[in-house]
Amino acid sequence: MKYLKHILLLLAFYSSVAEATELKGDIAQGGLVWGQLKHGAELRLDGKPVYVGKEGYFVFGFSRDAADTATLVILHRDGRREERTLNVAQRKFNIERIEGLPPKTVTPPESWTERRKVETGRVRKARAARAVTRLDWLNGFIKPAEGRFSGFYGSQRILNGKPRSPHYGLDIAGPVGTPIVAPAGGIVTLAAPDFLLEGGIVIIDHGYGVSSTLFHMNSVDVQEGQRIEQGELIGTIGSKGRSSGPHVDWRINWGNVRLDPLLTLEE
Ligand SMILES: [Zn+2]
Repeated sequence: MKYLKHILLLLAFYSSVAEATELKGDIAQGGLVWGQLKHGAELRLDGKPVYVGKEGYFVFGFSRDAADTATLVILHRDGRREERTLNVAQRKFNIERIEGLPPKTVTPPESWTERRKVETGRVRKARAARAVTRLDWLNGFIKPAEGRFSGFYGSQRILNGKPRSPHYGLDIAGPVGTPIVAPAGGIVTLAAPDFLLEGGIVIIDHGYGVSSTLFHMNSVDVQEGQRIEQGELIGTIGSKGRSSGPHVDWRINWGNVRLDPLLTLEE
């Protein structure tokens, strides 16, 4: 009897290990992580609820400055509580010096204040996920343009010699007019031809709070509310706004958390 109890305990231990929820993606600063839970389960990351869709899918991400551990709690429908400590890979970010930017875009004049308020308000609104239940993010991401990577996520920026906040995009340089395609499908929540710092800008809602933002576009060829597929043309590369040469700056957000697009391409 005594042994049987031990065997049963061992079996219980191994079955709970086998059932551990699989996490895909990058458990790293700037990383996007996803998985699928059984019906009815709930998820919390560092105490905050994470949206779990009808099919059990979930996605979350880590900021550039995320701490080295995070706590994931899964509340299964049968009452089982699965707690995991995630070791979040810490990364080193380089310093990037950019010269030749239009001075006004590095130190915006007071006359820009009102217009910037309107523009940043539109960005905030566009990133507040509307298409919550869409699963476009699940198909992964593709490079939005052909060209060389000219700037990286997380780098500490020195613009025209002045230290500025870190860069949160992946810059892809190419000639003016190079096609830009949707890195993933979704709904266009912002499409504007000439914001002061971003130039032509498009935001695509991929669902579950995940969105892409594309900056410095020369032409914007989509409209707000439009449904687009992955790989569909959305505009062309330009050098509008705070830019020293033609490129597209691609960003990925999970809610307000800024993620590294490059990590999503390495899957
Ligand atoms: Zn950039």
